[in-house]
Amino acid sequence: HIFKHPQFQFVYEDIRNEAVMDRLVSECDAIYHLAAAVGVELIVRDPVHTIETNLVASEVVMRLARRYRRKVLIASTSEVYGKSAELPFREGADRVMGPTIKSRWSYAESKAMDEFLALAYHKQFGVPIVICRFFNTVGPRQTGTYGMVIPRLARQAVAGQPLTVYGDGTQRRSFTWVGDVVGAMLALIEHPGAAGEVFNVGHTRDIAIADLARMIARLANSSSALRLVPFERAYEAGFEDMQRRMPDISKLQALINYRPSLDLPEMLQRIIAHERRVMASHAPHAAASQAAAAHVARSASAPSSGSSPHRPRWHPPPAPRPPPPPRYNAPRDCQAENSATPRWSRGPSRRTPPA
Ligand code: UDP
Repeated sequence: HIFKHPQFQFVYEDIRNEAVMDRLVSECDAIYHLAAAVGVELIVRDPVHTIETNLVASEVVMRLARRYRRKVLIASTSEVYGKSAELPFREGADRVMGPTIKSRWSYAESKAMDEFLALAYHKQFGVPIVICRFFNTVGPRQTGTYGMVIPRLARQAVAGQPLTVYGDGTQRRSFTWVGDVVGAMLALIEHPGAAGEVFNVGHTRDIAIADLARMIARLANSSSALRLVPFERAYEAGFEDMQRRMPDISKLQALINYRPSLDLPEMLQRIIAHERRVMASHAPHAAASQAAAAHVARSASAPSSGSSPHRPRWHPPPAPRPPPPPRYNAPRDCQAENSATPRWSRGPSRRTPPA
């Protein structure tokens, strides 16, 4: 949605390609390191990818930030608090992790290692880093492909499908508006008092997931009912969820005067409106492909009138190619591992000399 902005440049590449990253870091003023394998479903399905991506990507970023003396904001996660019951979570509190045989915790541990690494670069080499622990960031255009409850439930409600609530729905989460998260990131990376520090970025009001589903159904004016799905069916046998997750944001408030701008119902209204627009935009394509299928079916069943049985049937023209989707399985098919040329880029390049 910002492709047309004159100062926006999009490069489609694996963050672990150090040659490309070297060039990009040399051109930038600051690094917002948001690249990671996330989403509980993805983590459970592909733990090797999660661990390797999250560790190696941060190593590359930190090495280059040191080389070019760049400020870095590291995206971490509320997952690093694990199963702690000491609510609300404070940045300096102890962490409570599950066992290594439960792959869900590999995400939290990989992000905790990213934090350790960034703090070590700050301590040893003076790299100006700041760490943000995000608490369930939400907004329009968020994918539900790798987990993420709100885009899923909003889509289901708009489509009139059952709302899939995992477990018994008593687990609680606090959701943060993406615009508030972006505002906090911009303020923190500029603030001299933030260097070398860890901040919770979240909303202080939480909700049980079953109540969230009911709220989404009501706001979407949907008759969808709740469908309880056991965790072992949604994820894997022995899956452990976090029962409750809520931040103490006093440190962030004190430094940058942070205040969440939207409450949950307002966030949900915007996300539901977006899902409606997506559904409406798909409707003409669906109608067109149904018409094409009907045409093919008619051609196939029409009398042959002497035509060759091998004559190709009509196929709809190929759809215009969209930009490549975000990949999450880069390591195996990465062609440009050692190339400094990004595989796909868009928008003007902005060069600034190294500081
Ligand atoms: N969840 C759910 N239905 C879904 C997806 C997720 O009930 O379709 C639950 C999930 O088990 C968790 C909560 O919603 O308890 C938040 O899930 P999400 O993946 O958004 O973030 P998490 O807090 O697990 O990182």
